[in-house]
Amino acid sequence: MTATVILQAEREKSLKRRHPWVFSKAVKQVKGTPNSGDTVDLQAADGSWLGRGAYSPDSQIRVRVWTFDQAELIDSEFFSRRIRQAWQLRQQLFDLTQTNGLRVVAAESDGLPGVTIDLYNDVLVCQLLSAGAERQRKHIVAALVQLFPSYSIYERSDVDVRKKEGLAPVTGWLHLPREHGEVTILENGMQILVDVINGHKTGFYLDQRDSRAAAARYGKGKTVLNCFSYTGTFAVSALRGGATHVTNVDMSELALETARKNAEVNQLDLSKLDFNKADVFKLLRSFKDQGKQFDMVILDPPKFAENKAQLMAACRGYKDINRVAMQIVKPGGVLLTFSCSGLMEESLFQKVVADAALDAGRDCLFIERLSQATDHPIASFYPEGHYLKGLVCLIR
Ligand code: SAH
Repeated sequence: MTATVILQAEREKSLKRRHPWVFSKAVKQVKGTPNSGDTVDLQAADGSWLGRGAYSPDSQIRVRVWTFDQAELIDSEFFSRRIRQAWQLRQQLFDLTQTNGLRVVAAESDGLPGVTIDLYNDVLVCQLLSAGAERQRKHIVAALVQLFPSYSIYERSDVDVRKKEGLAPVTGWLHLPREHGEVTILENGMQILVDVINGHKTGFYLDQRDSRAAAARYGKGKTVLNCFSYTGTFAVSALRGGATHVTNVDMSELALETARKNAEVNQLDLSKLDFNKADVFKLLRSFKDQGKQFDMVILDPPKFAENKAQLMAACRGYKDINRVAMQIVKPGGVLLTFSCSGLMEESLFQKVVADAALDAGRDCLFIERLSQATDHPIASFYPEGHYLKGLVCLIR
């Protein structure tokens, strides 16, 4: 029998707004003995039915809702339906002959909490990050095989958040195993090498697709400093757009090696590229001290804030790095700056960049706003889905 989770009085409000999380503090009573990941019914204090979701005894997020429709069962058909719907949207959004690396399922935003599915050409990578996703893995994988029968599937559930759900990391091939994890994808016609086994996240930062396209537009005729370059795809895009020279900076040797290969497969002139293995924070300062300047600087750092307690320190970090970056932009040049910290709201990020301009003694005009690409949509009920913000700043 399905267990029932009964909420404290007044704690049903967010569920009525169709936000999919129930925190442990909101739970009054659990009727039955659900195991990790089991499907439970959610009930308000007045006895009314609220939703059906996955129980996670170890997590602060005690239940993640699969459905708000009482008639909808959580079975193999459910996962097949949700994944098919998500894939249909991506097919509408993309010309797959030009872009074949994309996020097929974006977790909560696609109605599948804890489930991320990325497509890299003919390889699918799945991340199952919640107790519910883990529990339903058979159905999820079966739905993928049904939809993409000839594609390989690799699991990259090696993310820290699984610990909070009481789950150990898992990686490995789930379907049609391959010798290695290297695949080439297309992004707006640009070729990109992705390693789904050794790369960051599921292999690549698909969410920055539109920002890479922006780098091509703004980079024309410019010298560019690409900070936190990873595999150098902002650089490839900028050079394809007519940049005169790009310096990639990353502390990962492997990322820079792939950056070089990415330049080669796109038949770029390697004399227009530098690959700099360095700590961005130190390098920016030494460029500033040397008086070295660029027409355009790209700043795409890793997440600075993992939780609310780290937000203030993160603000200081963003302000500091943006200040130094502005100081090495030539007057009239451009800064493309990003924050992928979900806790940092767009307005706060803008304020931090404004403070950086003040400290740098430079005028800064925000000429465009950037965000995660369309295959990372944001459900209106789940604003946390908006995590990536970018500002195109004209620096004078
Ligand atoms: N712009 C990239 C994604 C950047 S991810 C893209 O669109 O693909 C962040 C990158 O920053 C990672 O490659 C990581 O190796 C690198 N990194 C993190 N801290 C760093 C530091 N202090 N100095 C240099 N690189 C750093």
